[in-house]
Amino acid sequence: YIEFRNIDKFYGENHVLKNVNLNIEKGQFVTLLGPSGCGKSTLLRCLSGLEEISSGQIIMDGKDITGLEPKDRNIGMVFQHYSLFPNMTVEENIAFGLKMKKKPQDEIDSKVKEVMEMVELTGKEKAYPVSLSGGQQQRVALARSIVQQPKVLLLDEPLSAIDAKLRKALQQSIREVHKKLGLTSIFVTHDQDEAMVMSDTIHLFHDGKIEQSSDPIGMYTAPVSKFAATFIGNYN
Ligand code: ATP
Ligand code: MG
Repeated sequence: YIEFRNIDKFYGENHVLKNVNLNIEKGQFVTLLGPSGCGKSTLLRCLSGLEEISSGQIIMDGKDITGLEPKDRNIGMVFQHYSLFPNMTVEENIAFGLKMKKKPQDEIDSKVKEVMEMVELTGKEKAYPVSLSGGQQQRVALARSIVQQPKVLLLDEPLSAIDAKLRKALQQSIREVHKKLGLTSIFVTHDQDEAMVMSDTIHLFHDGKIEQSSDPIGMYTAPVSKFAATFIGNYN
């Protein structure tokens, strides 16, 4: 469904993605796991169109999307830092993208209500971001993204600034939203435990390349290299 073909990405001399080939099936919840600086965010930003690739092709739903503008890709993204509009209420934040698209107000109202229920934010409509916990702010960011009805959802370490207690509940909400909306989701983390509980498939990244692709159990029981074993945490 999503196909990365021979992707290379350079920042100046820095070769960040090294001939990445990756296929992601429709409806899967996929995790990109790997240490800091290995290129996870760069790959997501290339898929969403926020960065240009240096060479290669990105195919989505049979279509070459390599040169498309971000807005034409039908991809939603949630970032590590929530980046909500501080001067807008929760419902205004969520409605913003639909307003920009000049959707009718009654349609906006019903969609906003629906996604707020889905991410368990009902009651917070008139709250401002500053009055919300980190977890709640990230729920708003998730709602703001899915209200646009993307086909693909990219999540770049959305939970890394959230404390451990709230994180479990948000992991579950993200999985529920993924399933309910029939999304294809790509989740980035450097936390192996999080990858284990969230993913259908894990792609372990190392220095701009995919070291191993496997389901969580396979990653744990059959690491292909010392790097994989060490990173997953069953090597001593
Ligand atoms: P982290 O877990 O710390 O978020 P990451 O795996 O997401 O790491 P990237 O952010 O993709 O890593 O960065 C990969 C490499 O690309 C790093 O060497 C980084 O310094 C470099 N890089 C990332 N963004 C840019 C940019 N806008 N300009 C120049 N170099 C960049
Ligand atoms: Mg990153």
